[in-house]
Parts: sequence; structure tokens; C-alpha cells
Amino acid sequence: MALLKLRYYPDPVLKQKAKKITMIDSSVRKLAQDMLDTMYDSDGVGLAAPQIGVSKRLMVIDVAGEEDAPKPIIFINPEIIESEGESELVGQEGCLSFPDVFFEVKRARRVVVRFQDLRGKTLKLAAEGNLLCRAIQHEIDHLDGELFIDKATSKLKADLELTKHGFMEGDVEQMEEALALQAPAPVAEAVAPL
Ligand code: ZN
Repeated sequence: MALLKLRYYPDPVLKQKAKKITMIDSSVRKLAQDMLDTMYDSDGVGLAAPQIGVSKRLMVIDVAGEEDAPKPIIFINPEIIESEGESELVGQEGCLSFPDVFFEVKRARRVVVRFQDLRGKTLKLAAEGNLLCRAIQHEIDHLDGELFIDKATSKLKADLELTKHGFMEGDVEQMEEALALQAPAPVAEAVAPL
């Protein structure tokens, strides 16, 4: 088992478009295994090669629960070939390149991804409305140099999280006040039936 060094925002490698893998050899197999080890060690459910400083189109995902047996999927040169319900899958998202940062991100409700496995075989996988569906979209974004901070449902909430965890400079108190102003007015509770 070999653990790789995670790259954190704003490491420039996270903004680069990763290169296609043309030969699936022992170095790619070792990299995939090391990425899985690193992901499990950090309690992540997905990891893309740029996050360990390798600008190649390789990513790993395992959404099995802690109680279940591991179910790793290794994706080489993944591509989303079908996508439905853009912005319909709303939920909290985190990223190993932004420790402790979580905010709401909108993703497509259903995707079909085509990729190669470690033997070079081309496979297709569909995912709908679940963590796997979200993880596939999040990791493919990494391969394109895109980050979840640009897909937050609320930029202010994302900025607040980034500031709280030291990824951005800002006045936390002022941001919290601005957020409170944005929140819908509380509905008055009825005190007696009319
Ligand atoms: Zn990420």
C-alpha cells in the first residue's frame, strides 16, 4: 500500500485539463491502486488523478457504506455520454482537495458514463439520483480542471465555508449577516385556530 500526497486548492494542477491515457500498463495499474489506498485512508468516496498531482484521465470511486465490503470502480478516460435532469440533483458535496468544506451543489439527476477498465475494456455505467451519480460528475470535472466551488447553489454559502476553513480571505461575520438577510422571512406560527 502506498499513500500519495493530496493536492489542495489552490494548487495549479487542479485547474489543468488532464491528458488522455493511451497505454494502460503496470504504472497505470499501480497508480489506480495507490489512489484507492489514498482515498480510503482519507475517508473519501472519490478521487481524481489531478488531486494527487498527476494530470491524467484516471479516477476512482467507491460509494459502498463503511459497514459494507469495498466496491471500488476505476475509471480510465471516462466520458459522460448521456445526461438528464440538469441541476435536479441537489445535495451537500465535499472534496478531498478542500478539507472540511461542504456546501450544496446541483448536478444532473442521471448520467451514463463510458470508460475503460484496467484491462482496456470499454464499459458503460448508468447512475441516477444517488451518491455514485454525484461522484461521477464531481470527479470528471476534476479531469477537466473544474472545481465544485464554481457549481455551488449559493456562492455566498460556498464563500463562507471557504473562508471559515482558510481557503479564502474574508470577513466571516459580515458574510453570515449577508446570508441571514437572504434567508426567507420566518413564517409566523399560528397561536390559535381562526
Ligand atoms: Zn473533489
